[in-house]
Amino acid sequence: MTTVQELYLLPECLKTSFIQDECHTKSDFKFRNLIQHQIITKMKFNPAKAINDLQQFGEFGGVNPSITDSSTYTFMEGEIMEETFHGQMKGCFLYSRHWNPSNKYLADALAAMENTESAWITASGMAAITCSLLQLCNSGDHIITSVTTYGGTYAFLKNWLPKYNIEVSFVNITNLEEVKNAVQENTKVIYTESVTNPLLQVSNIPELAIIAHNCGAKLMVDNTFSPMIFSPANLGADLVVYSMTKFINGKNDCVAGAICGSGQFIDELSNVNTGTAMLLGPVLDPLRSSSILKNLNTLHIRMKQHSKNALFLAREFEKMGLSVIYPGLEKHPQHEIHLKTMNKEFGYGGILAVDFGTMEKAYEIMQKLQKENVGYLAVSLGYFRTLFSCSGHSTSSEIPLDVQKEMGLSEGLVRFSIGLDNDIEETFKTIKSCL
Ligand code: PLP
Repeated sequence: MTTVQELYLLPECLKTSFIQDECHTKSDFKFRNLIQHQIITKMKFNPAKAINDLQQFGEFGGVNPSITDSSTYTFMEGEIMEETFHGQMKGCFLYSRHWNPSNKYLADALAAMENTESAWITASGMAAITCSLLQLCNSGDHIITSVTTYGGTYAFLKNWLPKYNIEVSFVNITNLEEVKNAVQENTKVIYTESVTNPLLQVSNIPELAIIAHNCGAKLMVDNTFSPMIFSPANLGADLVVYSMTKFINGKNDCVAGAICGSGQFIDELSNVNTGTAMLLGPVLDPLRSSSILKNLNTLHIRMKQHSKNALFLAREFEKMGLSVIYPGLEKHPQHEIHLKTMNKEFGYGGILAVDFGTMEKAYEIMQKLQKENVGYLAVSLGYFRTLFSCSGHSTSSEIPLDVQKEMGLSEGLVRFSIGLDNDIEETFKTIKSCL
């Protein structure tokens, strides 16, 4: 339990949010205390330091771990092979779809960054999401999800899972009462993105964890938009998933994903009889995981620069009277929640959205921006150059138009992934001339 001394260590903002709030039930109170305790004891956690502190090098003394160039591995004794096959021989490798050394190095680094017991690497972000959900849910179960999620995730939840009799409720994840009201006896997972794609709503992870744990469900958080900025597991999430295609890799040269969670869950995922990661088989090529591991080591610097540039532009756009969404702006509805739960030195992230009203206007502006070399008219995000796309007509086009309207996704909404520009004031001048 939390001691009085520990409470004094808690920043003012967390005290007001997590201590003075009214608890609705006794078990609410219990979980609130648990989360408070987790937050207090993990407050000093720094994801960048966790990566810096890792010591991983190659078997010949190379400063980078050697890249695995084998799909299968030899054994001196048949019995050890059998034990490895059944997951009882940690540190031994059998077959690369199961585990391979390169993916293990990257998984260990991600587990360190997320402060989870373990992690698993997948060949895409979608594989991380789908394998995790299918591992957690059986036919007859129920999932609560934010209605604003990445379009691919939305389509999987909306069109695919019902085929297997898994029920899904779509809610406004920022309305905690709505989330609570959606809970059913068979609820197994509450699913959200820490910062939602593309509307940039910020999830109140500690409160969602309380709701999930109160009903015996797991909280699963897609942290793709905000690695290092949020440490969802420290805030109470059970499972953190990533599209590493985005900020974590940061080079737009590959597609990859990751799942960070308890050792038990990762073992379940890789179980040869029942594990979705093992049986569906979305393994990442070791060459790729080795290059992502190297890029992970510069993530902290990149996130700070993405955030700094995005905050500058968001403020300038606001001054110009544009309809801009960015969690770092005080007017953003979840600005306070972001501030309370973030790892402060990494800022508010590199993504902002501007509503230009109509699709035609949005296309005209994006084409001008590309012509003037501000960035590229392309989907995806987390790249070193600025990328922009019209979400409703690209990465969220899986969401039916009426639902887009209902959730406030305008046809002219442009999502910007702000790059690492060294002189963002100069970039702003060019953008202004295009507008
Ligand atoms: N999660 C979010 C928030 C995304 O934006 C995306 C892709 O855009 C994904 C998951 C899917 O990742 P991937 O394209 O690596 O499969």
